Amino acid sequence: MATQRSKYTFFENVELNFDRAASTLPLSKGLLDQIKACNSVYQMRFPIRVGNDIEVIEAYRVQHSHHRVPCKGGIRFSSYVNQDEVMALAALMTYKCAIVDVPFGGAKGGVKISPSKCSTDLLERITRRYTTELIKKNFIGPAIDVPAPDYGTGEREMAWILDTYATFNAGEIDAYGCVTGKPISSGGVNGRTEATGRGLCYGLKEICSIAEDMNAIGLTPGLAGKRVIVQGLGNVGYHAAKFLQEEGAIIIAIAEYNGSIYNKDGIDVEAAYQHRKATGEILNCPGAENLDARNDALTLDCDILVPAALESQIHEGNAPHIKAKIVAEGANGPVTAEAEDILNERGIMIVPDIYLNAGGVTVSYFEWLKNLSHVNFGRMDKRFNQGAFSNIIRTIESMTGRNVQAEQRALLKGADEIDIVNSGLEETMISSYYPLREALKQNPKDVPNLRTAAFRVAIERVAVAYQSMGIFP
Ligand code: NAD
Repeated sequence: MATQRSKYTFFENVELNFDRAASTLPLSKGLLDQIKACNSVYQMRFPIRVGNDIEVIEAYRVQHSHHRVPCKGGIRFSSYVNQDEVMALAALMTYKCAIVDVPFGGAKGGVKISPSKCSTDLLERITRRYTTELIKKNFIGPAIDVPAPDYGTGEREMAWILDTYATFNAGEIDAYGCVTGKPISSGGVNGRTEATGRGLCYGLKEICSIAEDMNAIGLTPGLAGKRVIVQGLGNVGYHAAKFLQEEGAIIIAIAEYNGSIYNKDGIDVEAAYQHRKATGEILNCPGAENLDARNDALTLDCDILVPAALESQIHEGNAPHIKAKIVAEGANGPVTAEAEDILNERGIMIVPDIYLNAGGVTVSYFEWLKNLSHVNFGRMDKRFNQGAFSNIIRTIESMTGRNVQAEQRALLKGADEIDIVNSGLEETMISSYYPLREALKQNPKDVPNLRTAAFRVAIERVAVAYQSMGIFP
C-alpha cells in the first residue's frame, strides 16, 4: 500500500534508495538480495482488557539483518503502525548501524496504538504483553535483539520491557542489556535521552564547517546565525533544536501536528518546550506567533529544515516550495522518493537519516556495552586521571615558576560518564561523515547526493560482513 503522499510505500522508498546505491557497486545479485531482504518478520496479535471489553492489539518486530547480532532498533507506539512501516524502519537501522560502525543488525518494533489515548496502566499492560510475545518467539535478549525508544515510547516503556524480560529470565547476568534507553536507575547510560538530537547537532556542525560545501549551496560556513525550522518538538526535535540553539543557530519556527509557531528573531526552545509541557501544545507560546496551517512552517524561508516528526512529511506537494538550503533528517524517512528528486534537482542538500539521526543507536551501543561490562563509564579511571593531570600541572608550575590560571584548572577534572558518552558520540558523528563525503566526491556521476553515498557506504560494509562469513564470494 503506497502512502497518501507517494506512489511508493515507505519500504519501497527505502528499497529504491538501496537500488540506486547498489547499482554503483560491483557486488553479486545474490549478495545484494540478501542484504536488502528483511530476514525475519514477526507479526503478532494479542488480547488486552480495556474496561469491560477485550481489544486485540496489532504489533510487529522485524529483524532486517542478522549479518551482525544482536539486532537493534526502536519500538514505535503509533496508530499508524503497519508492517511495511516497521520493515522500512528496520532496514534503515541496518544501514544506520553500518554507517556509524556499531556491531548490530537492524531491527524495529511497532505497536498499533495511540499512546495519548491510553492510560498509563493500559500502556504498561500493553508493553509488558508485547515483551512477553517477543520472549515467546525468542525475539528479544542481550545477544538476540535489543529494542530502544522510538516515536511514542521513552525510558518508562524501556524500564517495563527490562522488568518483564528479567522476570522471565531470572539469573541471566546480562539481562540489563536486553533493551536500551532505560532510566539511569535501571541500567541506562547518561546522555541516551538526548543522544539523537545531540548527534544531529554534532553532524550538522561538522557539515556546516566545511567552507567548500557551504559555498556550493550558497551558505556561509558555521552553524552560528543559521536560521532553522524544526518539525516535531518530541525527543529528537526538542533536543536537536536546543543544541543547535546553543551553537548559535536561530530557531525561527517549530511545527507540531496541530499548529506551528514563528519568530524571525528566534524562539526560546526551552520556553517553548516548557510551555507545551504546561499547556499540552506549542501554540500561544510567549515570544512567538502562531501560524495558520499545520505545515506552513516547512516552506518558510530558512537555511536549515529539520524534519523530526514522522516519515513522508516532505512530499511532491510541498517539496517545490521548500526554501531551506539544507534538509537535515532527524526523523526516519521524512522525504518521499518524489520529493527527493525535486529537492535534488533544486540543489538542496539532504543530509540523510541513516547518518544524521544515528546518535541514538550510537549511545544505545554505549549503554549496551555498559550493561555487559557491569561498570559505569569513568568509574575505574576518573580519579586516576585527575591525579595524573594534577601531577602534570604541578610539574608545569614548577618548571615555569608560574601558577596555572583558575579556568585552566578545569583540566584537572577526570571524565564522568556523560563526558565519555558525549565525546564518543561526537567522535562517531564526525568521523562517520567523511566516508560519505568521500563517496560523493570520488564518484559524482554515479553518486550524485549524500543519500546515495550513505547507502553505498552502508551496503559495502554489510557486504564485507557477509563475505567474511564465507557465504558470498
Ligand atoms: P516523539 O514521539 O518523542 O516526538 C515526535 C513529535 O512529533 C511529537 O511531539 C509529535 O506531536 C510530533 N508530530 C507528529 N506528527 C507531526 C506532524 N505531522 N507535524 C509536526 N509534528 C508532528 O518521537 P521521537 O522519538 O522524537 O521520533 C521522531 C522521529 O525520529 C521518528 O521518525 C523516529 O523514528 C526518529 N528517530 C528517533 C530516535 C530516538 O532516539 N527517539 C532515533 C532515531 C530516529
